[in-house]
Amino acid sequence: MHCLFYLGRACILPLIAPSSGSTLLGISSIFTMYEGVLYSVGLPMALIALLREETHDQLLKASHTDYLTGLGNRRWFFEEAERHIHNTRADADIFLLAFDLDHFKAINDRFGHAAGDEVLKLFAGFARGIVGPDTILARIGGEEFAALVSCKSDADASAVAQAVVSGFAEIVIDRSKGLGIKATVSIGLAQLSRDGNDLAELLLAADAALYRAKVSGRNRIEPAQPSAEGLGNVLPARTRKYRATLP
Ligand code: GH3
Ligand code: MG
Ligand code: MG
Repeated sequence: MHCLFYLGRACILPLIAPSSGSTLLGISSIFTMYEGVLYSVGLPMALIALLREETHDQLLKASHTDYLTGLGNRRWFFEEAERHIHNTRADADIFLLAFDLDHFKAINDRFGHAAGDEVLKLFAGFARGIVGPDTILARIGGEEFAALVSCKSDADASAVAQAVVSGFAEIVIDRSKGLGIKATVSIGLAQLSRDGNDLAELLLAADAALYRAKVSGRNRIEPAQPSAEGLGNVLPARTRKYRATLP
């Protein structure tokens, strides 16, 4: 607008000024002065607003991102998962996959914390590759991750989980593609019922299933048992450890 104003002033004013006399020149000078003041105040204010918006977006993104893996963090997961469930409950089967790396403390103890971090990063990248770029996948705890996937059937959801379990065990031990470290993951798989459980209950059910995957030997998937798990029943002591991580 500033440019247009000056363009108009430069092109039109010389043409009409000689015939309209000094009145037009006076009015034009007043307009030029006010426009100049507006411009010199408005432009910096607009720039400051733009910068603030950009900074706000960056801070918001950082507050939702896990610094180590680049995945969403726990807070982001709950916000996004709630939104996703709310928007898609009617037309998709939603499954929650609760991942927990097996004997991770032992990996840290044996190879060091930095190597443990690399295992976490590798897992995050690998799981992202399996579930796809648009799936809600987050690091919700130290060596705990969660994904919310939409699948046509529980067989499809199990296939996704199985691809993570077997693929991760294979790749992480590979020296060229992975880290040459033996590591595995256990997964609890729970389905959101269309009318019943909410996200917190879904997580409880997946956590209870995860507990069973751990006690059955790890490096495996366990599906949730809807009637027995996750709906406020008395849970085994180990599961209460996971339960304590609910929001
Ligand atoms: P389980 O198979 O039963 O899950 O055993 P676990 O050893 O994996 O479980 P536990 O809860 O005993 O230990 C989790 C470990 O994860 C302990 C903690 O030091 C480690 N950990 C948590 N966050 C990080 C991290 O950011 N980096 C690394 N390197 N280790 C982490
Ligand atoms: Mg754990
Ligand atoms: Mg673990």
